[in-house]
Amino acid sequence: MDIQANIKAVLSELPAGVRLVAVSKFHPNEAIEAAYAAGQRIFGESKVQELTEKHLALPKDIEWHFIGHLQTNKVKYIAPYIAMIHAVDSFRLLAEINRQAAKVNRVIPCLLEIHIAAEESKYGFTFDGCRSMLREGDWKELENVSVCGVMGMATNTDNEEQIKKEFESLRHFFDELKSEYFLHDDRFKEISMGMSHDYPLAVKAGCTLVRVGSKIFGDRNY
Ligand SMILES: *Cc1c(COP(=O)(O)O)cnc(C)c1O
Repeated sequence: MDIQANIKAVLSELPAGVRLVAVSKFHPNEAIEAAYAAGQRIFGESKVQELTEKHLALPKDIEWHFIGHLQTNKVKYIAPYIAMIHAVDSFRLLAEINRQAAKVNRVIPCLLEIHIAAEESKYGFTFDGCRSMLREGDWKELENVSVCGVMGMATNTDNEEQIKKEFESLRHFFDELKSEYFLHDDRFKEISMGMSHDYPLAVKAGCTLVRVGSKIFGDRNY
């Protein structure tokens, strides 16, 4: 695996304004160090224990993004340093992130995970679920989180038309939320979508963050 060459290849396909989250989950520190040497600073992880170990061992200017499902009882371990939490899918989780962020005097950037795929999943808000959470308004009192946008995963399929439709649905939902709730909040600007097999489609649909793992680091054994 030539990690540096892979990073450059992915970056060359990203227009200005789209940032790369290099998804390093299940890969060793050496792999992250190789990407770091190529200039990559944003890394995505999906397990708290693994992230904690990597955060301790690796350079302090790495921007760690938590991209997986986060249990409320584990928020406290990452609150002191996490740069962004991508998959917030309940008000309860958002409130706990706020509580832990307040303890360490931080404001933690969060994305709302929206279920856009045709596949069944326990995770992610439905469009309507997200609308009612925002309409209820309690989130506005949470001063130690900033809601910075939305995140989604397309169906795992070769059908590009379907993937394109799903990404576009997230893009439109972002626009809706922006105009209804965040018009004057410059922090609400992120659309996190696109993985190794579909990020070019996500870029076309207007994402601002792509989360690419295996295309950079090779296959994971899990
Ligand atoms: C693992 C993972 C990715 C990266 O997947 P690849 O197919 O390896 O690029 C992106 N997003 C989430 C939420 C993930 O869990």
